[in-house]
Amino acid sequence: MKRLAYCFFLLIVFAINVAAQDSHSYSNPSAVRVRHVDLDWNVLFDQKILKGTTTLTIERNSQTDPLILDTRDLKIEKVETSVNGLNYTSATFNVGTSDKILGAPLTIPLPTGATRVRIQYSTSPGASGLQWLTPAQTAGKKDPFMFTQSQAIHARSWIPLQDTPAVRVTYNARVHTPRNLLAVMSAENDARTPRDGDYSFRMRQPIPSYLIALAVGDLSFRSLGARTGVYAEPQVIDRAARELSDTEKMVVATERLYGPYRWGSYDLLVLPPSFPFGGMENPRLTFATPTILAGDKSLVSLVAHELAHSWSGNLVTNATWRDFWLNEGFTVYLERRIQEAVYGRARADMEASLGLRELQEEMATLEDRDEILHVDLTGRDPDDGFTNVPYEKGALFLLHLEQTFGRAQFDRFLRGYFNHFSFQSITTEQFLAYLKQNLLDKSPAQTARVPIDEWINKPGLPASAPKPTSPAFSRVEEQAQRWLRNEISATQIPVAKWTTQERLHFLKFVQTALEPPGSAGGPADATATQLSQTERTRLMGELDHAFNLTSSGNSEIAFQWLMMSIENKYEPAYSRLEEFLLSVGRRKFIRPLYQELAKTPEGRERALAIYRRARPTYHPIAVTSIDQDLKWPSE
Ligand SMILES: [Zn+2]
Repeated sequence: MKRLAYCFFLLIVFAINVAAQDSHSYSNPSAVRVRHVDLDWNVLFDQKILKGTTTLTIERNSQTDPLILDTRDLKIEKVETSVNGLNYTSATFNVGTSDKILGAPLTIPLPTGATRVRIQYSTSPGASGLQWLTPAQTAGKKDPFMFTQSQAIHARSWIPLQDTPAVRVTYNARVHTPRNLLAVMSAENDARTPRDGDYSFRMRQPIPSYLIALAVGDLSFRSLGARTGVYAEPQVIDRAARELSDTEKMVVATERLYGPYRWGSYDLLVLPPSFPFGGMENPRLTFATPTILAGDKSLVSLVAHELAHSWSGNLVTNATWRDFWLNEGFTVYLERRIQEAVYGRARADMEASLGLRELQEEMATLEDRDEILHVDLTGRDPDDGFTNVPYEKGALFLLHLEQTFGRAQFDRFLRGYFNHFSFQSITTEQFLAYLKQNLLDKSPAQTARVPIDEWINKPGLPASAPKPTSPAFSRVEEQAQRWLRNEISATQIPVAKWTTQERLHFLKFVQTALEPPGSAGGPADATATQLSQTERTRLMGELDHAFNLTSSGNSEIAFQWLMMSIENKYEPAYSRLEEFLLSVGRRKFIRPLYQELAKTPEGRERALAIYRRARPTYHPIAVTSIDQDLKWPSE
């Protein structure tokens, strides 16, 4: 009886899966589904291309439908099919018209019984998912470097495949590189493998295409614990290993909360500065920006975040990009729980409070449609969905559930959720059905207190949304106010005793106080807003002098200070601003700085002058965003 009901439920889920067409993929997995991928490439640094073959093992529900793959700017040389995986025969294929966002469909008619499709191809030098660094762009300055970034839909620019997170594949790869370089992938990496330019990889767990990842460069490895380790350029490896030494502790803490880590080992790869994101949760091998290496572990919440994706995102995956909040909202929630377990409640509270502030600041600039968790991205680039909304609003929704149903019950629910959907890709509808059955229906009185539909389908935050606060931040605000009222000098503020999060909050508080009235986030009372330029320069100079802000090596502090320097026309920080924009490629930092500069005519000129020099060193993903913002003439 129970079993029958379960089968029926599976049928429904299957029906939902079929119905949830991913608007960002041409593929037809309900007719022909790729199950396994074999990759074989030559990494050609001189031409900035990958050249080789991709062999797809397919499962067919229809013997008449063709295989349809996603591609972008690939040069397809030959396609072959095989019935037994041994003998291949040449096949016809058609590359359709290329769409600016989606790329072009590759349609391959399949002979009866065909189970394998082998494609010989090369990538283009401008592939959106690949970045090729010159030796000058690395720490070592001797060898070139390359790395991939496939999320959201950039895998198709280096592998012809069904580029939708709804399709999961296992993969094997063989990568040929210059002999002195090391290749690593989001798969089993043997840190002791001899450097001979011929590397093999295997990913045995089924993963979505956006998690296939490769990097090649002069890399060394340092173990961090029984299951954990870090790769980086030799010049960076010691600093990286020190900064990330709590990684093993984080894995243990997460397992205690949400069940076993299912991917074998967990390594990090610290990339050169042009990596456009904070981190990318490539399974078994998180890619990370070097901007987290602050020297005091103050920015390692990023590791907690990427590690958390081993449960939320990699184990249970969003089926389409409009379900992205299932990846990121869960992950931010888990990240804060890991931080709490490893560094204590005060740190987690501070990070949650900063997160809420960033969300509110960004929502003030967003259209209603982009404030919705279950966002409609039809006809748009899924990279447009990367705002704080899926991250911080998603996490607040889960925090609301935790606070309403109690932590013990909600933790049990989450463990059950990760087990139930492990190695599956699910939609928001599937999550909601599971939530109803396993949490909401069990406690109707509590359920009445959470406006589920408003959380998922409406813009803004529900009135009953949690508002994370931090007692430490209240004390920081008191100091800031006393300083702004001239009761104490900047040197009397106990900054030396503060954490990075407290310093950040202090700066953000002062930033708001200095903002002109009427601007987003500006103060309601106009006490600090009538300031003359001389007075602004004096206040900024006093802070700078007391805390050495212009020369801060902490990327979050430096970014915050440089934003304030542009807003308040604080010229002593301008050369540092230029240096920052020329040496950092993380989009979260550089994009707002260019946007803020571009608000005035002089600033815009400065922005364009710096961007002209920096643009060739940035990642294509960052370039696409900033080109748009600055209306950079397209090539
Ligand atoms: Zn994430």
